[in-house]
Amino acid sequence: MSLPQSPLMGQMMNQPLLVSGILEFAARHFGDSLIVSRRVEGDIHRYTYRDCHQRARRLANALHGMGIALGDRVATLAWNGYRHLEAYYAVSGSGAVLHTINPRLHPEQIAYIINHAEDQVLMFDLTFLPAVEAVAAHCRQIKHYVLMCDRDRMPAETRIPNLVCYEDLIASHTDDYTWPLFDENSACTLCYTSGTTGNPKGALYSHRSTVLHAYGSALPNALNVTSRDVVLPVVPMFHVNAWGLPYSVPLSGAKMVFPGAALDGKSLYELFEAEQVTFSAGVPTVWLGLINFMLQNKLKFSSFRRTVIGGSACSPAMMNTLMDELGVEVIHAWGMTEMSPLGTAGVLLGKHLELPQDEQRKILLKQGHAVYGVDMKIVDDDGKELPWDGSSYGHLMVKGPWVIAAYYKDEGGDPLQHGWFPTGDVATIDADGYMQITDRSKDVIKSGGEWIGTIDLENIAVSHPAVMQAACIGIAHPKWDERPLLVIVRKPGMEVSREELLAFYDGKIAKWWLPDDVVFADALPLGGTGKVQKNKLREQYKEYKLPTA
Ligand code: ADP
Repeated sequence: MSLPQSPLMGQMMNQPLLVSGILEFAARHFGDSLIVSRRVEGDIHRYTYRDCHQRARRLANALHGMGIALGDRVATLAWNGYRHLEAYYAVSGSGAVLHTINPRLHPEQIAYIINHAEDQVLMFDLTFLPAVEAVAAHCRQIKHYVLMCDRDRMPAETRIPNLVCYEDLIASHTDDYTWPLFDENSACTLCYTSGTTGNPKGALYSHRSTVLHAYGSALPNALNVTSRDVVLPVVPMFHVNAWGLPYSVPLSGAKMVFPGAALDGKSLYELFEAEQVTFSAGVPTVWLGLINFMLQNKLKFSSFRRTVIGGSACSPAMMNTLMDELGVEVIHAWGMTEMSPLGTAGVLLGKHLELPQDEQRKILLKQGHAVYGVDMKIVDDDGKELPWDGSSYGHLMVKGPWVIAAYYKDEGGDPLQHGWFPTGDVATIDADGYMQITDRSKDVIKSGGEWIGTIDLENIAVSHPAVMQAACIGIAHPKWDERPLLVIVRKPGMEVSREELLAFYDGKIAKWWLPDDVVFADALPLGGTGKVQKNKLREQYKEYKLPTA
C-alpha cells in the first residue's frame, strides 16, 4: 500500500522492528532471568537469557556457514525447549525465515509443506528422528539436517543424509555476531494452517507483525506478562509461535519454563510446582488432562494464578473448576493462525466488578474484547455490518497489522473481502465490544433455515458431572435439513443415559435446539492442534438415522 507522505515527517530514530531486538533486550536488561526446559533427554536444563542470546548468536554464525541467506527457509520439528528458542532467534534474527512444522501432521503433509516452503535446513528433536527418516527421501531441497540433542544421543546409523549434531554445530562457531538490520516487513516465521480441508496453507509473519503482536499480546488487557511472572507455555512452539509467548515473555523479562514433550497432567503439574509457575497458556484439551489429574489426586497449585485458554471454546465447567476449585484466573482468548494468533482476550471492565459472580462469569466466558492492533466486525451473508447488541450473529471479519493479507505463494488467491479477513467464525459482539463465537461457519447446524450454535450445546453437555467431552454435529434430516446429534465421551467409571442427558437441557435452551439423539463414544477425533475434528465425526456418522427422521 503506498501512502501519502506528510511534508513534515517525524524525527525519531527509524529503528526497524526486528525480533532479534527482543532477545538482545532480554539478555541486556533481564540477563539473569531463567529459561528452564524439560528436555527430551529426560532431565531439566537451566540457563539464562544471557546464555540463550550467546548460543543463538553461535547458531546464527553456523547458519551463515551453511550458506543460509536473507529470506531462506529453515524448518524446525521440535517441542517447546531452549534449543527451539535459540532457533527462533538465530534463524529469524539472521534474516532467514523460521518454518515451524507441526509434528502431529500426517507425514505426507509434513513432506508437502517442507517442499512447498522450500526448506533448506531441518532442525529437529530426537523424538522426531523416525518421522524425519520417513520423509527425508521426499524432501530433496533440504541440504542440512540438524538433530537437536547432545552428542552422546546421536544415532550410530541413520538414513538421513548430512545429519549433524546441534551441539557440535554450536560448539564449532563463535558468538561473535552482530544481528543484521533489514526491512522490518521481511518474512520472519512461516506457519501452515492445519489444512482440515485441502492442503495446508502458509501464514508468513513479518518481523514487524511479530514484534507488534508481542507488544500487543503482553498488554495488561491481554496476557499481562510481567517480569515477576514465571511463564509455562503449554501451547506448542510448532504451531502459531506458541501464541507469541517466545517473544512476549523475553520482552517482559519473565522466567520461562518449557515442558518439552511431557504434556500429560502429572508431568505438567510437577513442573508447575517445581518451577513455581504463575502463568500459562493452552488449549482446553490440555487443561482437561491437568484438571482431571489434580482432582483425582486432590492436588492444589501453590503458585499458579492465571491462564489463557483458547484454540477452542473454554466451557463454563472448565472455567468454574479452574477458578473456584483450583484458584486459577482464566483469560478466555480467541485467535487463529492467520492472526499471529491473538484477536481477543476476556478481561472485565471496571463496571463489571460490581456484578454478582455468575454475571461476571457470563462475560468472561465470551471470547473477549479486541486487543489493540485488531479491529473486528460481524456481517450478514451480503456483507452488511450487523449491530453490536450481543444477539445478532454473523460472519466475523478482522483486520490489523498482524492479520494475514495473503497466503504464502498466494495460495488460494486473495483471502480478503474489502480489506477485511473473513475468519470463518460466526459470532456476536455486545455493546461493550465483547465477542462471542457461536460456531465455525462450517460446523453450524442449519435447522429449518435457522442456525443452531454447537458450542452452546457442547458447553451444557460438559457441565453434566458424568460427561468428559462432547461434540455436536449436524445430521441430514428430511424435514429440517439438519438436526443436532450429540456425541459424548463419559468420564471414566461414570454412567449417564441418553434420556438423562436430553433432560439435562430442560430450561437451558430453546426447545428446537434440543439434540435429536445422543451417542456415546470412547474418544473424539482430535486434530494436530488438539481440536475436535468435526469433519471426521460428520463422516463417521454420515449414515446415522436420527429417531426423528
Ligand atoms: P488450526 O490450528 O486448526 O489451523 P487455528 O489454530 O488457526 O486453526 O484455529 C483458529 C480457529 O479456532 C478459530 O477460527 C476458531 O474457530 C477456533 N477458536 C480459537 N479460539 C477459540 C475460542 N476461544 N473459542 C472458540 N473457538 C476458538
